[in-house]
Order: sequence, then structure tokens, then C-alpha cells
Amino acid sequence: MGDHLQVHLKNEKFIPMKNAQKIEKVPLVGQSLEKIILNVQEMGFPKFRGKQIFQWLYQHRVNDFSDMKNVPNAIREKCGESFNIHPLELKLHTQSNQEPTEKFLFTLKRGENIESVLMKDRKRNTICISTQVGCAVDCDFCATAKMGFQKNLTVGEIVDQFIQVQNLATIPITNIVFMGMGEPFLNYKNVISAADLLNHPEGTQMGARRITISTAGVVSKIKQFAEEKHKYKLAISLNASNESVRKEIMPITKTHGLNALMEAADIYYQSSGRFPTFEYVLMEGINDSLRDAHDLTRLIGRQPCKLNVIPYNEIGGYYKRPSDDKIKSFLSQLKNVPFQVTVRWSRGTDIKAGCGQLAASSDS
Ligand code: SF4
Repeated sequence: MGDHLQVHLKNEKFIPMKNAQKIEKVPLVGQSLEKIILNVQEMGFPKFRGKQIFQWLYQHRVNDFSDMKNVPNAIREKCGESFNIHPLELKLHTQSNQEPTEKFLFTLKRGENIESVLMKDRKRNTICISTQVGCAVDCDFCATAKMGFQKNLTVGEIVDQFIQVQNLATIPITNIVFMGMGEPFLNYKNVISAADLLNHPEGTQMGARRITISTAGVVSKIKQFAEEKHKYKLAISLNASNESVRKEIMPITKTHGLNALMEAADIYYQSSGRFPTFEYVLMEGINDSLRDAHDLTRLIGRQPCKLNVIPYNEIGGYYKRPSDDKIKSFLSQLKNVPFQVTVRWSRGTDIKAGCGQLAASSDS
């Protein structure tokens, strides 16, 4: 075991923070190809060197300028004077004992913490990335909401979660979901720029159909997303079969009503030809009755869509996961519905990496 690695518990690795002076440099991860080319030209070097640096950052995911093999020393040294590579520092890496799921706790420049989760499946390895520190949307059942809103992540802080997790993972990441801490559409510009960078043909090259942006239902931004014709998939966190329950558990419904949300989802479908996915977190006594299943079918069955049912991951509060029998009978009501239904049994709940459990704490 080296100086830089201490084993805390059986499955936790604590990574000591590096000195603050280094962090004060401007991170390159997060910068677009155009911006990096401009930086390089301002330093007096030719344009193609900028493209090479871009590829080293996003395709090869190097951690040091000295690893940029085809870039001359003079350029690497000059870059190193003003820039560093990563905007995030990894603080804690936790592996679930129950499932092939890992959680990563990162620290930002000013000391705030965020989390990312990597879930491995037979066919897909999905990273769930954060877009804000905390969240202002205040869904009653969510651990992130308890932190309140602290700040929007920069493009670099969003993209670097993927870069660093991919470097630590032993398998290639096949899918990205913007579904960690925060409401992505309340950090719209940076989220779209981050998705564009992750999709860039000279960089990470993640296919647009493998990138999903999830929203609690910011109607104006869903419409904007549709109008701007982005190629990424859209998920909408619905969680209720009617307006009154949704207002109780998701206060955003008071300003972004259910009818307007359904209309926006349909605009997305009409403009993109892609089915929006509705996420439905199943909570005991809140939204898990047969009547709820019936009302849900009526609500979303009018338009092309998919449904993900996610049995609730408890966070020690008021809300509970329904019994297995209750979950089964809810699902049996959805057998002949006109949309595809998938059950997402959240992974990594033992390390609080399940959907709705992220709270950027190191006591998992
Ligand atoms: S569920 Fe999502 S949108 Fe709602 S409070 Fe949690 S992080 Fe924010």
C-alpha cells in the first residue's frame, strides 16, 4: 500500500487531497475543442496542437501533460504553467458488497462534494452523474433535496466525473445518465455543453442514444430541449398518477403542472421521434395502489412513451418501499398497457448509491 492510498474499511479507499496551489490553475477538462485551440494559439503554437491536446484529454484521458506523447515538451511545459487537467479530486471510492456497483465521492475546488455512481450490468455499464451540488427542487422523498441547493456544476465538473470514473473502472462505460445529484434542466446550458463534449467525435465519442438527461419536470426546458433538437434521450421523473399526490411529493408540480408536463413530453416526441421515458418511484401507500396503476396508464398511455418503475430506496425517513407482493400486484396491473414497462431494481443501496439516495457524504 503506497503513501497515497489508505484502506479505511474493507471496501473503501480514502484518497488524500493534493495541495491547493495546484488546484488554483485552470482545469482543461471541460473546455471545448475551439477553446483549447484558442488557448494553444494564444501561447504561440499552431492550431493542430490544440486538437492533439483535446484528444489526449478526452480520448486517452491522461492525468498529466507529460503523458501527451506527440505534443512537444515546450507546449506541455507552457500548458502546465497555466492549466491543470482535472477540475475534480477523487475523495472516496466505495464498492458495493451486494452488487457490481461503485460510488465515487469527488471534491470541487471550493471544497463542496458531489457523487457519481457506476452500475455494471451484463450488457450495459452505466454512469449516473451529478449536475449540481445539492438541489433546489425539493422532492420530499430524496436525500439530495435535504442538502438544499448549493451551486451549479461547471461543464468540466460534469464531464470530469465520466473521465475519472472511466479511468478507474475496469470495464468500458456504455451509457451515461444525468440523474445524480441535482436537476439537470436547472443547469441547462452546462448540461447540454457537457453532453456535447461527451458525444464529441474527436473526444469521448459516447453515442447520443447512450446519453440520457433526466428532469423532474421543468416544462420550459423540456420544450427548449425539443425545439433545439438535441439528440440525447429524455427521462421525466413522474412518480405520481395524479396532480394532487405529485404536488405533495414533488413541489415543482405547483409551478409546472401535470397537464403542461404531459404536453411538453409530447412536444419532445413529436419533434424528435423518440419516446420519452417516465420514471415512477414506487412508494408504499403513496403511489402503489391498483388505482394508481390504472390512473397512471390513463395519464401516460395517451402518448408514445416508456415507463421505468423503480421500487423506492429508503433513506431512513417517512417514505418506504412497498412489499414485494405489493410491487408485483402493481406491475401485474401494467401487463397489457400500450407502452413498454421496465422495472429498475436500484443497485448499490448498501452504499447509498441507489436512485434518490445520493447525499455526498463519506459515511456510506
Ligand atoms: S429527485 Fe432529483 S430533482 Fe428531486 S430533489 Fe432529488 S435530485 Fe432534485
